[in-house]
Amino acid sequence: MKKLIDYIRCIPDFPKKGINFKDITTLLKDGKAFSESVNQLAEPYLNDSINAVVGIEARGFIFAAAVAYRLGVGMIPVRKPGKLPTETICEEYELEYGTDGVEVHKDAIQPGQRILIVDDLLATGGTALATCKLVEKLGGKIRGVRFLIELDFLNGREKLGNYPVSALIHYLF
Ligand code: AMP
Repeated sequence: MKKLIDYIRCIPDFPKKGINFKDITTLLKDGKAFSESVNQLAEPYLNDSINAVVGIEARGFIFAAAVAYRLGVGMIPVRKPGKLPTETICEEYELEYGTDGVEVHKDAIQPGQRILIVDDLLATGGTALATCKLVEKLGGKIRGVRFLIELDFLNGREKLGNYPVSALIHYLF
């Protein structure tokens, strides 16, 4: 099998000029690459008594759901505002222009539960940090913040401070 990074397709100037978009669909459509990435994402947590996996909309859902299945636990969706049907808590974060937010159902996590957060890609870290805050507001204990891809040059890891961040694929520049 090729290395996982070789299954990622880079699309220059998408969705806007200057962004080198990491397209994961080329990894997802390959059965071996997809299952290998899910196994590697889950591996450090197989014996960590994780209670639930939190996935971040939208591409994060794909990996979070598969990792939750691998660990034999539930999956909790963190969504853009206005998508979840009942009582939520929201966390806002700064974008280059304006703000965005993420939401989770108030009853999604019980205090003390051991939570693994999974997303496809760590860029500036804004989305992941907001998600960590949501989990902690509900009393969850963050055991890991795990990504398929990390854009190291954007220093998202710094923003995430002491949270236990890790990724399978790294782009250094
Ligand atoms: P951020 O909050 O800056 O860490 O970015 C969060 C989300 O934006 C990630 O979960 C990705 O889905 C998406 N994203 C940001 N930059 C890229 C990129 N270069 N290629 C693909 N997706 C990206």
